[in-house]
Amino acid sequence: MSSIVLFGPPGAGKGTQAQRITEETGLPQVSTGDMLRAAVAAKTTTGLAAKSFMDAGQLVPDEIIIALIEQRIKDDDAKKGVMYDGFPRTIPQAEALAKIDQISHVIAIEVPDERIVERICGRYTCGDCSAVYHDSFNPTSKEGICDSCQSTNFKRRADDNADTVLARLSAYHEQTSPLATWYDERGVFFGVDGDRNIPDITSDILHILVK
Ligand code: ADP
Ligand code: AMP
Repeated sequence: MSSIVLFGPPGAGKGTQAQRITEETGLPQVSTGDMLRAAVAAKTTTGLAAKSFMDAGQLVPDEIIIALIEQRIKDDDAKKGVMYDGFPRTIPQAEALAKIDQISHVIAIEVPDERIVERICGRYTCGDCSAVYHDSFNPTSKEGICDSCQSTNFKRRADDNADTVLARLSAYHEQTSPLATWYDERGVFFGVDGDRNIPDITSDILHILVK
């Protein structure tokens, strides 16, 4: 099993790229954010424990996240590797991951902080297939209809507001960004300029993955 990690600040475009890379590589997207939101909606023990951290824009404790991942990668679709999106976010998470999966590429989608608030505050997703859109930068082709599944059911995230974004960015800089050096020292870190149009970034990532 060999997997890849999509790395970057909140709103960098990890989920957007993950959906496109899955289409090309077949690697399933494993988003800890999506898993936690599902747990919160289902009011599971994990969801109840995670909710206050997510609402405040803080990282959920490592032991909760690591338990979710250990369980997820036992699924059949993970046998040939996965694409982690939003995980790992701390050095202890990366150390735990190193014990259970081999990481061939960590792709960092680099976007300056001043772009992040506008990206996150304009984000909406399809409530049925989870396709990611943006009010101005990446709207649906036909207003109110999902391009991927024709659904008319869209959602906005509770934590996608200007106040929480600033807390999420601080958490990224303080707790997550040190992972760039950690993975660079292990020879698997690749940066891409994420402040460009979506297809150009996808093309760069696919080129890196065949290296
Ligand atoms: P992340 O998963 O890293 O939090 P998303 O993929 O959800 O980020 O993207 C955040 C927002 O930015 C979404 O509304 C998405 O449509 C938009 N977006 C993604 N990539 C780009 C891009 N290259 N240029 C402009 N907007 C983008
Ligand atoms: P995301 O969907 O990746 O933007 O994550 C939304 C929120 O879920 C974050 O602000 C954190 O509160 C929590 N979260 C997601 N992934 C992790 C992780 N790997 N470690 C800690 N908290 C996480």
